[in-house]
Amino acid sequence: MALGLGVETPETACDDSNCPFHGTLSVRGQTLDGVVASTEMDRSVIVEREYDVNVPKYDRHMKRRSRVPAHAPDCLDLDVGDTVRIAETRPLSKTKAHVVVTTIETTRQLASEQVTEPATDSSEAVMGDATEGTAGTRSPEGEGNAASRGTVDPEAETGGESA
Ligand SMILES: [Zn+2]
Repeated sequence: MALGLGVETPETACDDSNCPFHGTLSVRGQTLDGVVASTEMDRSVIVEREYDVNVPKYDRHMKRRSRVPAHAPDCLDLDVGDTVRIAETRPLSKTKAHVVVTTIETTRQLASEQVTEPATDSSEAVMGDATEGTAGTRSPEGEGNAASRGTVDPEAETGGESA
């Protein structure tokens, strides 16, 4: 099921009825990006977001963090430290009203992805083709996500408002 969020359906299927991709759960409302702080619970994660709050009296800003419980469908493999996007949904429990829809960044994947080929000046034409090829295969996902979502970095947003 397409969510209209510009996120890809996970490759692995699941039979979680509260999965937005393979179940009947519908998402609406806001989406948030945050870091997974806990995966202790069954099919639930804590997503933590840290932001700065201006304190006019002392002309400083202080760090605040919010912890949002979110449903973790079976098809998404999440770990502490992952940056994920969560979408608002109907209340799933006393505290849960969000569901994880995609992983934006994982340290696990980054470790395997960072196999950058060393540059060789043997042939510029081949080099150019190679770099174009990788750029062509990689960039559409990232750019497409950024463009279609039109999201602003939350921290940049708060900075703009407070300034
Ligand atoms: Zn699923």
